Amino acid sequence: MSTPRDHGPFRNLEALRDRVYNHAQRVLLDHAAHFACRLGCTDCCQTERTVTDVEFDALARAVAALDADTRARLAAAEGPTPCPLLLDGGCAVYDERPLICRSHGLPLVMEGQVDVCPLNFTELSILTLPDHDLLSVDTLTAVLVAVNALYCQEEGGDAHRRRPVSALFSSAD
Ligand code: SF4
Repeated sequence: MSTPRDHGPFRNLEALRDRVYNHAQRVLLDHAAHFACRLGCTDCCQTERTVTDVEFDALARAVAALDADTRARLAAAEGPTPCPLLLDGGCAVYDERPLICRSHGLPLVMEGQVDVCPLNFTELSILTLPDHDLLSVDTLTAVLVAVNALYCQEEGGDAHRRRPVSALFSSAD
């Protein structure tokens, strides 16, 4: 990625994002013909996500950096569906989107079961893919839990909670 490296509290989150990005780029290149993912498709964003403290705070930082008009439009969005960060057909904080959002569209394996967006790999079974083409959700989750635990230890967060994205716009949070 071309963004400057962050050596602050989000350094481990950014390192994990880089790993997912590099994996995604390789799989996208190797299987380009089997991906329907494109700018403007928001099927992945129709459900609100919950996130750990480290990703919540990264999202909060990104929202705070938006212009006032955009922040007001996001805050005025009603309901958790679709995701409160979906604006004008795209993610308002795309560069800071949670890891779960970064995994969408990719062939996944979770607890031994493979899965992929139904719009992708319509002519090739992901069961035929080698293991290294599958993103392990279990591993990703385990590493994120560790990253979040260290972040909470350093920054004083709560490593056991998950908050919905809509809490970014709640005065209680
Ligand atoms: S955070 Fe962004 S990418 Fe993730 S579901 Fe919401 S709008 Fe979509």
